[in-house]
Amino acid sequence: MNQNPIQRNTDGQLNIENLSIEHIAKEVGTPCYVYSRNGIRSRWQAFDIAFGQQPHLVCYAVKTNSNLAVLQTLAQAGAGFDIVSGGELARVLRAGGDAQKVVFSGVGKTVSEMRFALQMGIKCFNIESEAELYRLEHVAQEQAIPAVVSIRVNPDVDPKTHAYISTGLKENKFGVSFDKAFELYRYAFASEHLVVQGIDCHIGSQLLDLAPLQEAAKRVVAFQQKLASEGIYLHHIDMGGGLGINYQDEDQAPSPAHYVNAIIKAIGQTDIEILVEPGRAIVGNNGVLITKVEYLKENEGKHFAIVDAAMNDLIRPSLYGAWQEICEVTTSNSTKQLIDIVGPVCETGDFLGKQRQLAIQEGDYLAVLSAGAYGFVMSSNYNSRPRAAEVMVDDDCYHIVRKRETLDDIMCGETLID
Ligand SMILES: *Cc1c(COP(=O)(O)O)cnc(C)c1O
Repeated sequence: MNQNPIQRNTDGQLNIENLSIEHIAKEVGTPCYVYSRNGIRSRWQAFDIAFGQQPHLVCYAVKTNSNLAVLQTLAQAGAGFDIVSGGELARVLRAGGDAQKVVFSGVGKTVSEMRFALQMGIKCFNIESEAELYRLEHVAQEQAIPAVVSIRVNPDVDPKTHAYISTGLKENKFGVSFDKAFELYRYAFASEHLVVQGIDCHIGSQLLDLAPLQEAAKRVVAFQQKLASEGIYLHHIDMGGGLGINYQDEDQAPSPAHYVNAIIKAIGQTDIEILVEPGRAIVGNNGVLITKVEYLKENEGKHFAIVDAAMNDLIRPSLYGAWQEICEVTTSNSTKQLIDIVGPVCETGDFLGKQRQLAIQEGDYLAVLSAGAYGFVMSSNYNSRPRAAEVMVDDDCYHIVRKRETLDDIMCGETLID
């Protein structure tokens, strides 16, 4: 499946794969997230295939969308996984993922997370600081399991993306400088509890321009060669994730094949395994959030649609000022008007989209597109709103892969004081 799995048919019905979204909304209720199983699998495969004969591993960034059925779909395709917590490792294992294909990123790994990952035999720890390296060495000694490490370098390139999702600049909290990394590699190389395996970086997210990534790759390769001249040989280069997607027509996101080829070109001929950690580019455009219009309201000429999804369900518009396309699930002949799509949460920042041209009536369904990444995973129970259901579509069937939360679910850990 190379085309977008979300298409409108000639009757004006929005479909995902071979199912009508309205049909799903009526049966499952709203708000709900709906994902395309074949779309997710084929985007992962697009990265994998593009590497050809080059040794490689495409590690899906679990934080983007960690639903077990998403992870299972990718595990069955042969994916590796990039995790940032022990919780994500537990999910990967439960979904049938292979621990030996897991890399563990993140600046704040705890001792218990390190123990768990060591015991499960993950592929590599992506070390983000000197203190973390010493801690991991200690845990490896205590467990009598050598820890396989990569040092995350900060190549200090500007990814030209949103400030909150840029990670490869000196002033960001991620990774270490090349100078620091050099010291850490020598230390790790000499340690009997650490095994030097690779090097990694991740310069940012929603990258639409591949030049900064290529610049980072060149700096990383030059450094890897410097290490080799010291007798420290690396077995993989991990370029992180970050490939962007089209949220609007005018965005020009490179394809996975373009992205992979740009990396291969910048790194040059090598037998070293290349890893990438795409998240958004695999799931982003393979998911939609479906919501129902509860009320229409007009305030001094300004029009609002109050819908049953809110910032607690999808925070990107409020948090990053992100723009996501919103469209009618079933088109009608009524006239379009400029309207703000807002949720019921008591915050002015609670909107999904502003000033959209839509023709809508009370009770209609709307679809927020490009919601497969950083959607459900960033949702909360703010305003005591149960979290949305998640649905996975596979051709002409669907599966509820996470039940809508109940009020009992959201209060279950709380107690009254006697
Ligand atoms: C967030 C993150 C990713 C995934 O980023 P995308 O932009 O979703 O591809 C990959 N690697 C690391 C280390 C990350 O922090």
